[in-house]
Amino acid sequence: MKPDSPQWPHGLPHVLLIGAGVVGRAIADAHAARNLPFCLADQSEEAIRAAARAFDEAGYATRDGSLAGGSPLPESLHAITVGDPSSTDATTAPIVIESIVERCEVKQEMFAALQAGLGETAVLCSNTSTLLIDEIAGRRLRSPGRVCGMHFFMPVHARAAVEVVAGKRSDDDAIQAVVDHAARLGKRAIRCQDGPGFIVNRMLSPYLNQALLLLCRGASERQIERAALAYGMPMSPLELIDWIGAPTMYHAGKAFTSAFPQRIDPSPMVPALLKRKRLGRDSGGGLFDYDRGRRSQQLSDPTQQLIETYRTDRRAFSDGDVLLLLTIPMWIEATCLLKEGVADSMSTVDLAMAGGLGFTSDANWSEFFAELGTERIDDAISRWQSEFKSMRKPDDAQVA
Ligand code: NAD
Repeated sequence: MKPDSPQWPHGLPHVLLIGAGVVGRAIADAHAARNLPFCLADQSEEAIRAAARAFDEAGYATRDGSLAGGSPLPESLHAITVGDPSSTDATTAPIVIESIVERCEVKQEMFAALQAGLGETAVLCSNTSTLLIDEIAGRRLRSPGRVCGMHFFMPVHARAAVEVVAGKRSDDDAIQAVVDHAARLGKRAIRCQDGPGFIVNRMLSPYLNQALLLLCRGASERQIERAALAYGMPMSPLELIDWIGAPTMYHAGKAFTSAFPQRIDPSPMVPALLKRKRLGRDSGGGLFDYDRGRRSQQLSDPTQQLIETYRTDRRAFSDGDVLLLLTIPMWIEATCLLKEGVADSMSTVDLAMAGGLGFTSDANWSEFFAELGTERIDDAISRWQSEFKSMRKPDDAQVA
C-alpha cells in the first residue's frame, strides 16, 4: 500500500490527532515541540479553541479547520492545523492517533468514519489504555490491518517511550510506520502484543492499587513515596494517580479486575474520588491539591476523609514491608506477561519500566529483583499472599 495515496487530501498534515483532552493535548504538545505539523480534532469546540489559544500563545502557526473545502474528517469534529503542512515529508505514512473517550463502540465508529474519509492508506492508532486493539479494529472496518496501538504515558513530555501494540491482524508496515513515528517524536518503541493493559498498565494497575490499599491499612503517604523513590520510580504512586486522572484510573482498574480478578482487590478509593469529582491534577485536584501545577505536601482534606471512610486497619508497616508490598505485584505481572508472550523478553519489560514509567534507577528494573533474590521474594509472597491477592505466587495465579 502506497503511503502517499491520492486519497490523502492535499494540504492535510500527515499526522491527525483526534481528541484534545488530557492526553491528546500532551501528544499534540509533543508534536509541536518536534516541529511536526499536525491537525488536532475534537468534538468539543471549546477544547479546540483552548488548544488553538495555547498554541498561538506559544508562537506556533495555527489555522482553523483541518482543510480548506471538503474535509474528509467526520462533520462532528472541530479542528485546527498546527505548523506548516507543506513541510510534511511526503514519504511518511499518514498516521492518525486517536485519544477520545475510552469506549470501544465510540472508537470503532470513529475509525470507520476515518477510514471512509481518509482512505485505506492511513495508519489508525488508538491510544487506548484499557481496550484491546483487536476489539477496536472490530469486524466492520474494510482494512482492519491498518489499526494498531500507540500508547503514550503521562506526563508525555517526560516519558522516553511509547507502546506500539500489534493486534492479531495489524499489518507489519503499519506497525513499522508507528515505530518510525515514535522515533520522529524522540521516543523509543516498546513493541508488544495485544492484551489487557499491554505491558505498562498491566504492571502499573496492581502497583497503584496496592498504594491505595496500603494507605487504608495504615501506611502513610510519606512511607509510600519513600518506598517508590527508593525502588527507582520518579514519583509517588499517589502523585502518579493524579497525573493519570481518576477517570482513566477507573477504566484501567476495571479492565485489570475483569481480566485478572484472582490477582487484585480493587481499592474503593478510585470510584470514591470520581464520585467526589476529585479527578486529578488537570481538574484542580485529586489525592493531592494543586496550586498552579505544584502539588501540596500532604494529601488533600477530602482524601484524608476518604481514607478514614475506607480504612480497614491501622497497621504499623515498616518501610521495608511497604517496598516489598508495592514492588512484588509488578514482578508477578512481568512473569505472567513473559509467559503469555505479550512481552517478548525481560529487556522489553525493562524498556517499558524505564521508558513508560520513568524508572530511574541506574540499573535495569529487573536487576532490582535479581538483587532482592528469589528467597526474599518467596518469603514475602508466603507472608502476605493471604492478605493481598496481588501477592499470590505466579505459579498459583492463572496465566491468561
Ligand atoms: P479526556 O476525557 O481528558 O479527553 C477525551 C477527549 O475526547 C475530550 O476532549 C472529548 O471532547 C473528546 N471526545 C470524546 N468523544 C469524542 C468523539 N466521539 N469524537 C471526538 N472527540 C471526542 O480523556 P483522556 O484522559 O485524554 O483519555 C483519552 C484517551 O487516552 C483514552 O482512550 C484513555 O484511555 C487514553 N489514555 C489516557 C492516559 C491518561 O493518563 N489520561 C494515558 C494514556 C492513554
